[in-house]
Amino acid sequence: MAELSKEVLLTAEQLAKRIEELAEEISRDYQGRTLTAVCILKGSFVTLADLIRKLTCPVSCEFIRVSLSDENDTPREVQYTTPFEIAGKDILLIEDILDTGVTLNYLINQLSESGPRSLRVLVLLDKSEARKVEIEADYTGFKIPNRFVVGYGLDFNERYRELPYITWMKS
Ligand code: 5GP
Ligand code: MG
Repeated sequence: MAELSKEVLLTAEQLAKRIEELAEEISRDYQGRTLTAVCILKGSFVTLADLIRKLTCPVSCEFIRVSLSDENDTPREVQYTTPFEIAGKDILLIEDILDTGVTLNYLINQLSESGPRSLRVLVLLDKSEARKVEIEADYTGFKIPNRFVVGYGLDFNERYRELPYITWMKS
């Protein structure tokens, strides 16, 4: 049975410091523009919440979900919590983990069709060993080993999202 590790992979302090660095970089890159930060639910809501409070450029926040097909883990459709303007906007997708790359690849293709002015991706965690689709994020928090991680918004069967640090499940 999967069990929570007692060790910590990324502390709350490490996460806060890296989010602040990313926010500085993004604020510089989007100077004079209004950013549309698109949170991919559910795992990214803590990253979004911490990031936007460190930005110095104007930002609007949107939320989407990607449902997966039943047979396998391939994305099926984007669910918009509320429809929002994509055409002509500077869109920054916020994702918790870049793993195989299938989800982000699908989303980038879908959103591109609506003609954003720019479309970039921020991922908090990158498990590059697990990649199936060639894709790189524009902003990456941390590269991590290929383990199932939880905390800071990430769950295991809807548990552990509330942990202020990131740890992993022992199988
Ligand atoms: P992929 O890149 O494989 O299409 O999917 C990435 C998604 O799978 C992430 O957004 C996340 O929801 C989920 N995922 C992948 N690895 C992990 C992990 O280690 N922990 C958790 N909680 N979710 C993961
Ligand atoms: Mg996710």
